[in-house]
Amino acid sequence: MSSEKIKLLQDMTDKTIVVAGAAGFVPGHLCEYYLKKKAKVIGLDNFITGTKENIDLLSKYPNFTFLECNIYEQLPSMEHLKIDYVFSMASPASPIDFAKIPIEIMRVNSEGTMNLLELAKNHHARFLEASTSEVYGDPEIHPQVEDYVGHVNPIGPRSCYDESKRYAEALTMSYHRKFGVETRIVRIFNTYGPRMRPNDGRVIPNFINQALEGKPLSIYGDGLQTRSFCYVDDLVRAIDYVMHSDDVTPFNIGNPDEYTMLDAAKFIKEALKSESDLAFHPLPQDDPKRRRPDIGKLQKVSDYRPEISFEEGLKRTTQFFREKLQ
Ligand code: UDP
Repeated sequence: MSSEKIKLLQDMTDKTIVVAGAAGFVPGHLCEYYLKKKAKVIGLDNFITGTKENIDLLSKYPNFTFLECNIYEQLPSMEHLKIDYVFSMASPASPIDFAKIPIEIMRVNSEGTMNLLELAKNHHARFLEASTSEVYGDPEIHPQVEDYVGHVNPIGPRSCYDESKRYAEALTMSYHRKFGVETRIVRIFNTYGPRMRPNDGRVIPNFINQALEGKPLSIYGDGLQTRSFCYVDDLVRAIDYVMHSDDVTPFNIGNPDEYTMLDAAKFIKEALKSESDLAFHPLPQDDPKRRRPDIGKLQKVSDYRPEISFEEGLKRTTQFFREKLQ
């Protein structure tokens, strides 16, 4: 590994990028980030959780192409294209999806990831696997560092996601070792921002929508479990840094500022000047107790810093949900 800091490309006119999961929240933002850098972006999605609205937004850019497909069945033919980067970001990731579509989640992260790795191999493209902090399970060390191997329940309600992402990481490393594919892995921690599904079931959209509608904010368990929330623009920049690093081993990406769910509820109530009460509900099984990324590894090789405060990020996200409610 060289000791030089990672440099990002500003003008990507000559690059072609494939993004699996383009109709989803984080991949949709990633597409827009590269479209603004003038790359040709090819988005893939089957709309299992992503929305047509997100694709309409991206379709305003002349350098965007959308191909509807199910990546674990068959990828569309892209033989004639020179592809530079492949982003594997197609997996549904909200805990409410785990109960509804567990088989689809496992197939997209296994067969789907393999199809994307084959695409990268055949085109000599760089490949990035969007993995997750869920590979650490309910972590026994805090904050989480990349060489912690995790504490995952293989048969619990979250295992369809946790274990299939662990498999996707193993597959990615195997393609690197066996075929020399230029692979990268990011482990994404909790992320929020505009264009999240309002009914996504995750804590930030739930709290904001409940506060906007004057309903009680739903706290699971005693609310003392923690998460660290990263605004989506900060996350997308971190992904770009990792894609341009020269290290094939995983990088944690996220914002290390940590909140209990009670603190997050209080923060959102104050930010929205809401009078809503709190309502306590049972804690879901295997809900991780503490989660906070150690992002020192990425910061050692780049100038990466999260820039958007929780306050500012919530303002922008609330504005999005307000417009949705109208
Ligand atoms: N949570 C909560 N109220 C909600 C939704 C979630 O208290 O309405 C809690 C959940 O139990 C977890 C944390 O908030 O401890 C983050 O949950 P989320 O589903 O956003 O993401 P996770 O980190 O669990 O994947």
